[in-house]
Amino acid sequence: MIVWGLSGPITAAVLTFLAVVVSIYLCLADKEPSLFLQTPIYVATFVFYAFYLYNVQKQNNDKVISKEKVSEELTLIREDHKKNDNLQAALQEKIHRFLDLQRFSRELKEIRGVQEVTRKIVDEAHAIFKQADECVLYLVDDVRQELGLVAATQKSGVVREKEGSLYEEWVMKRARAILIEDARNDFRFPADARPGAAPLGALCASPLMTENRVLGVLRISSQKENVFDADDLRLLDIFSNLAAVILKNDLLYDRMQELALRDSLTGLYLNRYFQERLNEEIARARFNNSPFSIILLDIDLFKRYNDEFGHAVGDLILKGIASIILKCVSPVDFVARYGGEEFVILLPKKEQKEAKQIAEKIRSEIEKHPFYIRRAEKRVTASLGVASFPEDGKAREELIRTADRFLYDAKNLGRNRVCGSI
Ligand code: GH3
Ligand code: MG
Ligand code: MG
Repeated sequence: MIVWGLSGPITAAVLTFLAVVVSIYLCLADKEPSLFLQTPIYVATFVFYAFYLYNVQKQNNDKVISKEKVSEELTLIREDHKKNDNLQAALQEKIHRFLDLQRFSRELKEIRGVQEVTRKIVDEAHAIFKQADECVLYLVDDVRQELGLVAATQKSGVVREKEGSLYEEWVMKRARAILIEDARNDFRFPADARPGAAPLGALCASPLMTENRVLGVLRISSQKENVFDADDLRLLDIFSNLAAVILKNDLLYDRMQELALRDSLTGLYLNRYFQERLNEEIARARFNNSPFSIILLDIDLFKRYNDEFGHAVGDLILKGIASIILKCVSPVDFVARYGGEEFVILLPKKEQKEAKQIAEKIRSEIEKHPFYIRRAEKRVTASLGVASFPEDGKAREELIRTADRFLYDAKNLGRNRVCGSI
């Protein structure tokens, strides 16, 4: 007991064990029977110590295990806390984004004009989706069913795909939003989905829809992969729907304005608007010291068709001639119905030689075109006069007068021909 008290249980157990061994040895060596009596006492003491030691060891082990358990639980609680913090931050971010959306819809209602509205849409999208480094908006051309770039954020730099890439086409055709986390490894699109432009990392694109019609496509993208998630896609979709509602009214207004400038029969611009454009072109050509030309076209013996087949047939021919002219010129050229069965074409930056070639193409296409009148094939011809700035006139009236004079020459020379100064 004294040893136990002074040196601890292990020393006491070892000494007891030694005493048992020594007493057994002495007992066997000296044949001293009294020592036999001591042996059970030593054995009992040894067993007691061994049992005691076992318990102490077990208690120590239990303590270690419960300590490990507590630290494990502590780690779990810490992780839970971290998750909660992240969730709270994400929630805050969402609330901010929806507040941004609310403000955006309020501000958008105050803006008028397609150009201003589209500008606002891309700027705002960029402010909401900060991880994007490009934000572009395309509108659908109703006639051609093609996309045309209308706005891009400054950060986007020069956007090369003016007619949209395969991504925007995909969205337009399916009228569905798309999320691509890693565009370089997306099996739905080829590696060169944006020909001539750097490949994208990640992108989100959503259609601008009104009444089941796709007005346009809004795309946010980044050179980095995995920067957008399903939440971004949902938000972009809401954003696009909001933008579409506002844009629809502005597009409608623009279209009405445009209609007021167009002839209802042929869809071409009215002479009144042509005169304005001609004034503008003269000013531009003077400033840039560049040429331009005009072509006056008059259908040959048109009165005969009216008299023979009626006014409705005459109207059909007028429409047909208008679409042939449009096919022969480029989108920068300006075609108007000058009046009656006369048309005028403004060709910016084109000299007499080039303008005469275009006039000749129009003449031959009209001549080749079969018109079916009462099941019979009929051919129509036209005469054309070409005048160029500055050699044929430096003022509006002078240019038109010259073109008219060449047209008169063409009629006098037997019709179905082009006349000009060269
Ligand atoms: P030319 O070769 O000398 O130009 O002979 P033309 O018969 O074409 O010339 P004219 O000026 O005598 O006749 C033009 C006709 O165009 C007269 C008019 O009835 C017809 N016209 C003008 N506007 C329209 C229209 O909107 N629809 C129809 N169907 N006819 C029209
Ligand atoms: Mg005429
Ligand atoms: Mg005529």
